[in-house]
Amino acid sequence: MKAMVVERWGERSKLHERPIPKPGPGEALLKVRSAAVGLTLLNMRNGSFGGEAPRVMGHELAGDIVETGAGVTALKPGDRVATYFYLTCNRCRWCRGGRETLCENFGGFVGVHRDGGFQQYVCLPADNMLHIPEGLDYEAAAMATDAVNTNWHCMRERAKINPHDTVMLIGAGGGVGIHGLQVAKLFGARIIAVDVSDEKLALAKEWGADELINVKRTPDVAAEAKRLTGGRGVNAAVDYVGHGLTFQAAYDSLATGGRAVIIGVGKGDISVNPRQMMLTEKVVTGSRHSTRTELIETMEVMARGLIKPVVGMRTHFTEIESIFDTIIDEKLLGRGAVTYED
Ligand SMILES: [Zn+2]
Repeated sequence: MKAMVVERWGERSKLHERPIPKPGPGEALLKVRSAAVGLTLLNMRNGSFGGEAPRVMGHELAGDIVETGAGVTALKPGDRVATYFYLTCNRCRWCRGGRETLCENFGGFVGVHRDGGFQQYVCLPADNMLHIPEGLDYEAAAMATDAVNTNWHCMRERAKINPHDTVMLIGAGGGVGIHGLQVAKLFGARIIAVDVSDEKLALAKEWGADELINVKRTPDVAAEAKRLTGGRGVNAAVDYVGHGLTFQAAYDSLATGGRAVIIGVGKGDISVNPRQMMLTEKVVTGSRHSTRTELIETMEVMARGLIKPVVGMRTHFTEIESIFDTIIDEKLLGRGAVTYED
């Protein structure tokens, strides 16, 4: 079978010929039909997620089960499934308590700590394969597994969005942000979209943003957020970029009782004034991916057409590097997608 292999972290992936893997106990073999592509993969390819190379990346996958290993009863050949990104123990207090992304025996990530799906077939733990509901196609299901479910968790559990809220999204035009916009809209919020280019902001507008801030023209984001909210500030600010500067802008934009949520993987620090924080009950928190249950819910909501995949570029998986180049040039609008037709 064909596989796109990163031989050493930091290098481009190359086409290799590999044998089709055999599922071990507790595993299943997936014939991949679609995969989603975003910035996270470039961070993985640079080695910043750890793991060992050579490695086949690809963690946002949908396809068909073709074979199951010993002890697997929940899946059978022909089942349509999407994959869960995190390798969790399913036994610790966090896993059992429904917060498995905080797993204390965390085994790493699909496509980083074991081979992912930029190959025609991939073996993964059966626990990482969830059935795709009727009416949801492979491409949308693949998008659900990171670009959308991450937002489902964020907006409901961390940012705690309700219809009365004004929500600011920093990086709203990116591959995760543009789906976050749809999720926040679904919860009824008024949306202020923040990004660095008019093209990305036009996309955000198209998907329902109420107000737009281009940071290149309006660098004082917090002042603009206050102006757009009658001086009060926003009830929640979600930072998809994840630099110290962007998260500081998120925090500084908050109204009394507001929630600043970091979702992007970034660098830097922010400063908060403890007295002001006490007096205003502002919340600073993170949002880490999604649980399996939230992924199931995400796929069901998408199957009803309430959130739609935003695909800016589509190629065959053996051309994956062309999507990476487009992401590096900051030209990708929405998410990338790869196909697997022979
Ligand atoms: Zn665990």
